[in-house]
Amino acid sequence: MTLIDGKKIAQEIKDEIAVRVTQLKDAGLKVPHLTAVLIGDNGASLTYVNAKVKACKEVGFESTIIHLPKETTEKELLDEIHKLNTNPNIDGFIVQLPLPPHIDEKKVIMAIDSNKDVDGFHPINVGKLALNLPTFISATPYGIMELLDRYNIETSGKNVVVIGRSNIVGTPMSILLSQKRKKGNATVTLAHSRTKNLKSITLNADIIIVAIGSPKFLKADMVKEGTTIIDVGITRVDDHTKKKGYHLSGDVDFEGVSPKASFITPVPGGVGPMTIAMLMKNTLLALERK
Ligand code: NAD
Repeated sequence: MTLIDGKKIAQEIKDEIAVRVTQLKDAGLKVPHLTAVLIGDNGASLTYVNAKVKACKEVGFESTIIHLPKETTEKELLDEIHKLNTNPNIDGFIVQLPLPPHIDEKKVIMAIDSNKDVDGFHPINVGKLALNLPTFISATPYGIMELLDRYNIETSGKNVVVIGRSNIVGTPMSILLSQKRKKGNATVTLAHSRTKNLKSITLNADIIIVAIGSPKFLKADMVKEGTTIIDVGITRVDDHTKKKGYHLSGDVDFEGVSPKASFITPVPGGVGPMTIAMLMKNTLLALERK
């Protein structure tokens, strides 16, 4: 079994980006500037945004956080987005999800200039992804494609099962792997909460990608010997033995599944760090495509 070290690969990618930033600086050119918009005080969202800003510093990007109170109206947020769309100094920006319930997430995503949508959530970018055109691939699926590539995991002709059909992970993941592209050409099954006899499907998989947010959901009896396992899930599970009061759990029962796996990602330290590295990559692309 090979443990896929997402932390190490993410560092490699950030180092590559940092080299490019130094080249831009040396040539007297602008360096990428990423802005994160955060609404309210959701603990996980704060952690993610801080990690993104920290990564910007590491690679030499400029970054800004726009932290708005949870009472911010939809109109106020849309006005903020308009300002970012028209600010030439900002190359890319993200609006950290989830949003408070009184704000329509779809409206917000639609308002973002697709050329600055480094999360890759805007319908224009999702459409380009579906057509295999240059776009911003949303960071988590993009990171998984990089892991498959850098660990030389064969996907062509393989049976891949993606569990979870969210717009940000499962669905784009299933599209990318089925496309005619590097680390594509797989036969993909997209499973979800209405899927029947999931075990009979996963037992036939060469690669399983789980993105549902249900701790230790994928058990050893659902996996054949030699399967590659990518665990996207991150759930905070109450744990009074930890200082923070919780530990992070993936969607895979790591102890049970790992002895049968050929490759497996841990949680934490697998897909999570890659997501942030690929957001940096998209921000660099946003500047370079201008
Ligand atoms: P989501 O919550 O939007 O959707 C969950 C999906 O899982 C749905 O499509 C649902 O149909 C499916 N599902 C739920 N229960 C199921 C079951 N029992 N069997 C089959 N399918 C089932 O999901 P999301 O936003 O993609 O997040 C999924 C998990 O991945 C969460 O734990 C989230 O925190 C994590 N996540 C991690 C990263 C990262 O960087 N590592 C990024 C994004 C999301």
